Amino acid sequence: KIRRFELGNPGAVSVSFEFFPPKSDKMEAKLWSAVERLQPLDPSFVSVTYGAGGSTRERTHRTVSRLLKETAMAPAAHLTCVGASRGEIDEIVREYADLGVRHIVALRGDPLEGIGAVYRPREDGYAYASDLVEGIRRVADFEVSVSAYPERHPESADWSAEIDNLKRKVDAGATRAITQYFFDNDLFETFLEKVRAAGISIPIVPGILPITNFEQTMVFSAKCGTSIPHWLARRFAGLEQDSETRKLVASAVACEQVLDLVDRGITDFHFYTMNRADLTFAICHMLGVRPATSEQQAA
Ligand code: FAD
Repeated sequence: KIRRFELGNPGAVSVSFEFFPPKSDKMEAKLWSAVERLQPLDPSFVSVTYGAGGSTRERTHRTVSRLLKETAMAPAAHLTCVGASRGEIDEIVREYADLGVRHIVALRGDPLEGIGAVYRPREDGYAYASDLVEGIRRVADFEVSVSAYPERHPESADWSAEIDNLKRKVDAGATRAITQYFFDNDLFETFLEKVRAAGISIPIVPGILPITNFEQTMVFSAKCGTSIPHWLARRFAGLEQDSETRKLVASAVACEQVLDLVDRGITDFHFYTMNRADLTFAICHMLGVRPATSEQQAA
């Protein structure tokens, strides 16, 4: 366990960053400027999401491939099994293995009809993330991360179903879980207690969402099951027309969240960057995660 005054010691905290594959040349330029700004922070890995139902298969592959070739960072490719056959998924996994990728974030994905629709597994597909993890491990020796939900996945009937599912994913070979974003650290801590009580010992890395757009965050949170505390809504209230102040507030909120998690003994953080560097860079700075000095680089 580290304490705040120790932040800044190299290695005290480790971070990873999530990006999404860009759709246009303009978005591509934005992503790469974020990548360049965040790379000196030496993340333990950077992950690239996979569009709903495999809609970004090519773009995710291209982005992961470029990260591998043009940066010193270790890329992790997200992969969802919804809507695809086992054969199609195995082929994608083999392509990543051939490319030299060593880390996959294995997910089931949302129903093709959208979040909230009834999920029906394909007969010839991997039904759930635990089946996908098993399939990936059969194809090659990947590091496999999976999802975890401090406020429960909306389809899980109860907490025991939720924790059993995480356990199945770990038994299938997952070595890290990254959480859905959350804003109430007490919920995360209670979740962690449940996970550890069930004998699950892999790292559970909190997913941190710096809020770039509060309205959108409210809409998405309602769908994915993340609660918006009353105090959080009050902090953003009245700033609808004031993007400058919203950004400062977003940075303050996320810094407060991660520093409180440090006080609770957390040392690994995964940032949902939304392909922007500014907020994530500032929060990392507060965590003591800084570009290496020339002396450190030489050592
Ligand atoms: P699972 O772990 O398979 O669980 C889904 C639900 O099924 C749970 O309620 C579980 O309890 C239940 N379940 C599991 N096994 C069984 C069983 N045998 N019988 C009955 N019920 C069962 N989505 C994307 O489309 N692309 C991404 O890149 C992406 N990245 C993500 C990254 C992170 C860190 C997180 C937290 C989520 C991400 N998502 C992504 C969203 C994710 O795809 C959705 O939340 C999806 O609804 C569930 O995927 P999962 O892997 O968590 O599913």
